Amino acid sequence: MRYVSTRGAAPILGFGEVLLAGLADDGGLYVPESWPSLAAGGSGDYLVTALEVMSPFVGGAIAPGAFADMVREAYATFESDEVTPLVDLGDGLYLLELFHGPTLAFKDIALQLVGRLFDHELSRRGERVTIVGATSGDTGSAAIDACRDRESMDIVILHPADRVSDVQRRQMTTVPAANVHNVAVEGTFDDCQDLVKAMFADAPFRQRMRLSAVNSINWARVMAQVVYYVVAAERLGGRHVPVSFSVPTGNFGNALAGHAARHMGLEIEQLVIGSNSNDILTRFFTAGTMTLDEVVPTLSPSMDIQVSSNLERLLFELLDRDGAAVAALLDDFRGTGTIVLDPALHATLGDAWSAARFHDDEVLRCIAEEADRSGVVLDPHSAVGVSAARHCRRDHSVPMVALATAHPAKFPDAVESATGVRPDLPERLGDLFDRPERFSRLPNDLAAIQAHVDACVAG
Ligand SMILES: *Cc1c(COP(=O)(O)O)cnc(C)c1O
Repeated sequence: MRYVSTRGAAPILGFGEVLLAGLADDGGLYVPESWPSLAAGGSGDYLVTALEVMSPFVGGAIAPGAFADMVREAYATFESDEVTPLVDLGDGLYLLELFHGPTLAFKDIALQLVGRLFDHELSRRGERVTIVGATSGDTGSAAIDACRDRESMDIVILHPADRVSDVQRRQMTTVPAANVHNVAVEGTFDDCQDLVKAMFADAPFRQRMRLSAVNSINWARVMAQVVYYVVAAERLGGRHVPVSFSVPTGNFGNALAGHAARHMGLEIEQLVIGSNSNDILTRFFTAGTMTLDEVVPTLSPSMDIQVSSNLERLLFELLDRDGAAVAALLDDFRGTGTIVLDPALHATLGDAWSAARFHDDEVLRCIAEEADRSGVVLDPHSAVGVSAARHCRRDHSVPMVALATAHPAKFPDAVESATGVRPDLPERLGDLFDRPERFSRLPNDLAAIQAHVDACVAG
């Protein structure tokens, strides 16, 4: 498989190069040159389907046996044999639990594989990198767990000091691997992101440290997420039996994987986007315009995002894969802060997508009601997905699968305030609060952070 940029002006690359490149040279995102077709069949077995769905994207870039080993190892870290269990909520509504990985959030599904793919590709090339990232919570711990103890990389994660939950911080700072380095920055999440951007913008530093990232624009992350859409359909009747999905959405990577599954031939009737109060995407799908706004903090912090980077991949398809048109639209957005879609294009979107927004009070009510109705305890992100599923569902004869993206114990305060019961951490994390923490606290100062990264890598 070859990959092209959504802005049409970057070199066409193979899978291994796209994996390590992240962003394309023209500022676009890489997408497959064409969509492979799903064959009929599929038994609902996660590993079998994972290999079948992902192999065409990897093409000849990795030997099939080595790829199969990485897939098997990645999903052996999950607590459930089914990897992503499907829970019946009644009335044709299902919950696909994507949170049984090592850090209890759906990011593990992609990152457990991507960490192994990175290590494989770097070792093959005899290269070593320093992965840097900023996190407001979930991504940092999932990236750390995926990269821990890997020979070909160090990983340095910045989080805002005193502004992530205790569970989230401890999931990062209690990992006892020599290549893992946590920094609590005396500032906000935006400060952390700005520091990471500034490190990448400093070309001599970037080259000396061989900086790299495993962020959500990486194609391999989307690829790994296509699998569970197919698996869910198989478990509900087959790849060619209609099914709908509802996706709590932030950076749009998860939803885009559903879009890819649809392009590959999965019979997805409705793709529903759920937003929290940061509803720029919901407004885009319902009104056809997208206007930049302030980010407001909510109970579902992993969705507190304004500009969803993966939306660019959807725009590329919507604009008939015309990279110049995508670049023009996004330039316009950067200049004016607004995108206005052509009405015909907006109508096309409306056929394929639905969207709804839920504020925190509605999210808490959903958690309480679902606990009463089915006994299932949702985290605030998953509750946005379930709310959107109930609100947008059109045809009740088609099963609707809401994606559950985090374990309720990751957000115990919100869950307790909704249900009155504090959710327990799963057994394997039961001693999280007894494990020793290891992190450095540094000022919001680029020179200090760079000196620290340098020392981490040298050490
Ligand atoms: C990252 C994340 C999301 C949002 O997923 P996107 O792919 O960014 O849209 C939703 N819920 C949780 C718990 C997450 O960690």
